[in-house]
Order: sequence, then structure tokens, then C-alpha cells
Amino acid sequence: MARAHNFFPGPAVLPVPVLEATRDAVMDFNGIGVSIMEISHRDKAFEQVITEAQNDMLAIMGLSPDEYAVLFLGGGASMQFAMVPLNFLQKKAEYVNTGEWATKAIKEAKVIGEVVEVASSKDSKFSFIPKNIQFSPDADYVHITTNNTIYGTEWKTDPDTGNVPLVADMSSDILGIKRDFKKYSLIYAGAQKNLGPAGVTVVVIKKAWAEKAKQNLPNILKYKAHIDAGSLYNTPPVLPVFVVRQTLKWIIAQGGLDAIQKQNEKKAQIIYDVIDAHPDFYRGTVTVKEDRSLMNITFVLPTPELEDKFAAEAKARKMLGLKGHRTVGGMRASLYNACPIESVELLASFMEDFYKANK
Ligand SMILES: *Cc1c(COP(=O)(O)O)cnc(C)c1O
Repeated sequence: MARAHNFFPGPAVLPVPVLEATRDAVMDFNGIGVSIMEISHRDKAFEQVITEAQNDMLAIMGLSPDEYAVLFLGGGASMQFAMVPLNFLQKKAEYVNTGEWATKAIKEAKVIGEVVEVASSKDSKFSFIPKNIQFSPDADYVHITTNNTIYGTEWKTDPDTGNVPLVADMSSDILGIKRDFKKYSLIYAGAQKNLGPAGVTVVVIKKAWAEKAKQNLPNILKYKAHIDAGSLYNTPPVLPVFVVRQTLKWIIAQGGLDAIQKQNEKKAQIIYDVIDAHPDFYRGTVTVKEDRSLMNITFVLPTPELEDKFAAEAKARKMLGLKGHRTVGGMRASLYNACPIESVELLASFMEDFYKANK
């Protein structure tokens, strides 16, 4: 199979063994003689898939199943922008605004209640992560976006919010970097960046906090209803859950988060080194180096014409998905977990060649 070099920001590259296992399960799940798509989600064989995915998720994160639950929900990360405040915003919530997704999360929460934008890098085009933020002790929760997919910044340390529950949208760096996951009361991630296909959102939630959620909600929107049902409150997206389970097994086989992070640091450094070697040609958009994302590397070229040429010549070499987000332009190389280092090395050497030919 001729695989292209996949730098798409999401949906994005998946490990080949995961695709192969999925292909097989689509034709014949577990040797049962039906497709994974043709069997009850309450069948033991599928229950085993979802239970393994939940256990592996927590094991990789170093979290206890006594304390945390893993849910596989529909509606994307965008659904969580609404579900989090619906469940937990009573008086006020504090949000850190680090980009477009954070802005959307804030907008949805404002429909529900009082939102304090406790820190923001908006005035600097979201080119860094705000530091030394003073969180107030009486907020219902603090919300951050750990990796800003569009602007290429990433929280490298996890903030301290004292007794105030910490919530994070980790859609684009979940299991791509080690974190102190115990600091978080709720983590959510659309699977389609680093874990699987579109159609499932992974939620990792502290069970004790879910008990304290607002009660006057439809059941389908209550985390507690999903926790009590083991994430089988209604039919979960079975095929995406299967893919996530295979990806988690792949992560464990790679050596877990330690090995994954090391590899991601190495990959990102290869591209940042090219950018830093030619700062007048490739201009990184992130102003504070320690805030540079391991996952989404954003840079601009001297002119939009050169950017188009860059994307076209890369595409001719089977390097896909390098254009920046439609709202910000420029270039973006997304180097998620499953992006092989060979693709990254090829991109770096192409960037060197393109620089020499066009400087
Ligand atoms: C892609 C992305 C989203 C949107 O996810 P949907 O599943 O499309 O709702 C939200 N937050 C971040 C950080 C993202 O990268």
C-alpha cells in the first residue's frame, strides 16, 4: 500500500496496524462471522472492546478506575463545550483563552452562565500561553485548551488551580505528551486528532465531581448518566470506539507515554530546527519557544504565493495537509503520534531544498 506523508490537522494519520485491525473487524469481528458494525453494542464481544479501551486509557494516563471514569460520547469536542457548563457552571467559571477553540468553548459557556476570561493571548494573535495566572478560589471550574491546533501553542506544564476543578480540552495533544493527569477533574478530546476517527469523543472524568453536577438536565447530557451506564447509556459509536481501542494498544506497544513523548519531541525538533535555521524565510508564528506545540507546527513564508507554491510542491512529493487553518493562513505541519519520523525527515529535507530554491 502506497501511504502518503500525512500532515493533516484532523482527521489525521492513524497507525497502519490500527487500520489493518479495523479493516479486518469490518469484515469479520472476532471470528464471529459478522462485521463490528453488525452486532449489538451489548454483546459480550463489544463490551470487551469498550471495557479494554476504558482500562487502557486510564492505565496509560496513570489514573485509577476507582477515581476516574472513561466515556465515549458523540457530538465531538464541540459538544463538550456545552456539556461541561451545562453540568458544572453554577456561579461562574474561569476560562483561559488561547485560541479559536478556546474562544468557541467560552462562547458556549456564556450561554449557560457567567464566564470570566481569566487570561488571554488574543492581543498577540495567540502566539504564546499565558503564565502565572491568578485563578480565583471560588470558581466552579477552570477551563484550558492544552494544545492550540490552529495557532501551534501548547501548555507544557499543567496549571495549579488549588481546590478549583480543572477542565481541559485536550483534543489535539491527548496522549501525545505526558501530563499530570491527576490534576484534572475532566478531560475531553475529539478522537480524530490523536486517537482515532471522527465520531467519538473521549471524556475522562472524576466520578466524585460528576456526583456534584446540576440535576435539572436531560439524562443524555448528564455525565453521571453515562458513567452509571458504563458509557453504554445509548448506542456508542461502535466502530470509532474499536479504532480508539486499537490505537491505545498501539501506544502501549510503543512503550507508553514516555516513549511517545520522546519520539514526538524528536520529530518536532527536526522541523523547528529548519525553521530556526532560516528565520527570515520560515517564520514560526509562536513567539515563546517553550510554548511551541509538539503536535502542530505553524509557520509562514515571505509571501502567500510562496506558501501556495510550497504546498503544491509538497503535495507533488506526496506530503499532504500542510496548509494552515483557513482562518489564519500560513503553513501547518501536524505531527501527531502516528506520523512516522520518516515523513518528518522528508518534510525537513524538502523545506531545506525549497529554501535554497526560493530564498
Ligand atoms: C479539532 C478541535 C476541536 C473541535 O472538535 P470537534 O470534534 O470537531 O467538535 C476542539 N478543540 C480542539 C483543541 C481541536 O483541535
